[in-house]
Amino acid sequence: MDLQDKDGSGRRRVYLDHNATAPLHPQARAAALACMDGPCNASSIHAQGRAARAVVEKARGEVARLVGAPGRNVVFTSGATEALALALQPDMELAGKPVHCDILLASAVEHPAVLRGHRFADMETIEVDASGRLVPDALEEALERHAAAGRRALVAIMAANNETGVLQPVAEAARLAHRHGAVVLCDAVQAAGRVNLDIKALDVDFLALSAHKIGGLQGAGALVSAEATHRLPALLAGGGQERGRRGGTENVPAIAAFGAAAKRALESRESEAARLCSLRDRLERAILETVSGSHVIGHDAERLANTTLIAFENVRAETLVIALDLAHISVSSGAACSSGKVGASHVLAAMGVDAAHASGAVRLSLGWSSDGRDIDLAVAAFGEVVPRVRGRPVRTV
Ligand code: PLP
Repeated sequence: MDLQDKDGSGRRRVYLDHNATAPLHPQARAAALACMDGPCNASSIHAQGRAARAVVEKARGEVARLVGAPGRNVVFTSGATEALALALQPDMELAGKPVHCDILLASAVEHPAVLRGHRFADMETIEVDASGRLVPDALEEALERHAAAGRRALVAIMAANNETGVLQPVAEAARLAHRHGAVVLCDAVQAAGRVNLDIKALDVDFLALSAHKIGGLQGAGALVSAEATHRLPALLAGGGQERGRRGGTENVPAIAAFGAAAKRALESRESEAARLCSLRDRLERAILETVSGSHVIGHDAERLANTTLIAFENVRAETLVIALDLAHISVSSGAACSSGKVGASHVLAAMGVDAAHASGAVRLSLGWSSDGRDIDLAVAAFGEVVPRVRGRPVRTV
């Protein structure tokens, strides 16, 4: 499929949905293709197996460097959903010592992979403020309450929200959590490659990453631990791959692409953040000027440079997304779930955005493939499409 010209009409397609998945970056593609032809089992002893092992270990180092960790702290998984599920278990070893967590404390705006992917009998969500930022006092209150009852918590806090791009106070939350003996997991899927991430500076115990959000292939992710001696029970025991932490033959092409994407993301992070911020701000400004009744959600918080969530008054986001698709613009409804179906966004509900406003929210997320022409085409399309779909009921397909 050609992203630029999906229907063969020769018309350019504007892809503004990098938070859903980024197009495969050419450097990642080259790295994957380089290991597609040979047999690639990294556990085999022969020359081809050793070559595959070298590819995996090189990628491990590259992924680790993106978050300031040593390579041995990286466990490759099938994606961030699996990496998060691996970490969201009550029993683990930290620095070689067994630790049991009694409750999961998760920010109310976590991804469903956290809110629904855990194995805790008990979970509490921690409130966010109107701009979508975790309220540290609320976390502290919950930590104190549970610590007083002799209960240890696992705290899950994302680095950046996938719908709004709002950055979370991870280091502050981790400091509070550790002061109360809690363990900290950070979902860094959307922040990776977009902001500076250092696992030690953030002071988190585990951090989850996904390859396909940074220009790698789908089917690879990683759980990175602050110490190589942190250990979680393997979800898949299998053949003992990943030093017994995750069984199953490694997906060598996807891991190679992940490494290449991580390397590129790290090397270009600052210049890309500046470039995307200027494109995003231009896009926001032009849409707000061109389209009446449009509002940026979370604009007063620190946000990722690539993301904007815009609510359009008296518009159904689903209708707008479909109309924009017909105009060759790919965006997501703010409330889109993984299946593409639309439900009330738990993120916007947690921020106290009223339902009428939330139902007209559309997420635009930029990335390595975005340029100024995309912005011009998107602004023109919003200016034409929004007035046309305003007040229209949801169209079912
Ligand atoms: N966490 C966040 C914040 C995400 O945006 C996503 C994907 O949308 C995930 C986790 C799950 O990642 P994966 O698709 O690699 O399983």
